[in-house]
Amino acid sequence: MAKIAFLGLGNMGQPMVKNLIKAGHSLAVFDLVKDACLSAAELGAAVATSAEQATQEAGVVISMLPAGANVSRVFLGEEGLLTKVLPETLILDASTIDAETARKVGDAAAAIGIDFMDTPVSGGVAAAAAGTLAFMCGGSQRAFSRAEPILEGMGSPEKIFHAGPSGAGQVAKAANNMLLAVHMIGTCEALAMGQAQGLDPSVLSKIMKASSGNNWSLQVYNPWPNVMEDAPSSNQYRPGFMVDLMVKDLKLAAEIAETSEIATQIGSVALDLYIEHQEAGYGKSDFSSILNQVRRD
Ligand code: NAD
Repeated sequence: MAKIAFLGLGNMGQPMVKNLIKAGHSLAVFDLVKDACLSAAELGAAVATSAEQATQEAGVVISMLPAGANVSRVFLGEEGLLTKVLPETLILDASTIDAETARKVGDAAAAIGIDFMDTPVSGGVAAAAAGTLAFMCGGSQRAFSRAEPILEGMGSPEKIFHAGPSGAGQVAKAANNMLLAVHMIGTCEALAMGQAQGLDPSVLSKIMKASSGNNWSLQVYNPWPNVMEDAPSSNQYRPGFMVDLMVKDLKLAAEIAETSEIATQIGSVALDLYIEHQEAGYGKSDFSSILNQVRRD
């Protein structure tokens, strides 16, 4: 079992820490917010007074931070952890950030012989709590082999992927979430159109699920209230996965598309629609609430 330093104890970090402890690892944790540290202490983690202190004896460092700027600040520069961790440390950044920053930190780590992987997740808070997250990993084969047994403590073994070299995990995550936004909006439009013509959204959902329109939103996350009991739509669109985070991820995808000179036209319409929805006050609602931009009544 590993000695793990975990940095960033927010909505995702807390349940991930809980599952790592359950898997038998020993955890030293740090967050800038004191209450977050106290909650992790209740789970059985040792609370450090700084990120550096948390990593002092760690063989593995996992970070789960808001954005690329946080990740740069934590790992790079004179004060950054890359120069402070033990030489054999494996670093896994599970935050969703821009691919460029992931590559920058990955390259800086490789230059001093440290294994670093970008390992963003899919599945949200529910999968983090259930220990069934998907991980998309970018970095060397050696780092991936070291990372797999650790990630299995937080995710499903069949959903842990080596996407490619440094940054590839972030590219995979952005590609997936752009596709998620597109099929969610498409599903909302199809249901709203059918309902406006007098069809029952439950019946139309069944028809499309059994036909060529079948997709993940219809299967497990129906956006129409009361079609699917456990979906956020049947629970006042409580997240789930917030609109604010979808906007963040679609912006990351737009950056990647621009640098790749790929015209992701539908992805860019999806971004515009989600920004409009966010500005209409739905930022903290589940992303399936985009139905409200589309339906008539
Ligand atoms: P959050 O805002 O709840 O938590 C982030 C935590 O990082 C906060 O507690 C913050 O205080 C802490 N932090 C910031 N800078 C720090 C530093 N220098 N040292 C230590 N702690 C620091 O965010 P979250 O919902 O847990 O998401 C974390 C990451 O996971 C984000 O990149 C997000 O995009 C991604 N993600 C979130 C979800 C989701 O459903 N919430 C799903 C998939 C991916």
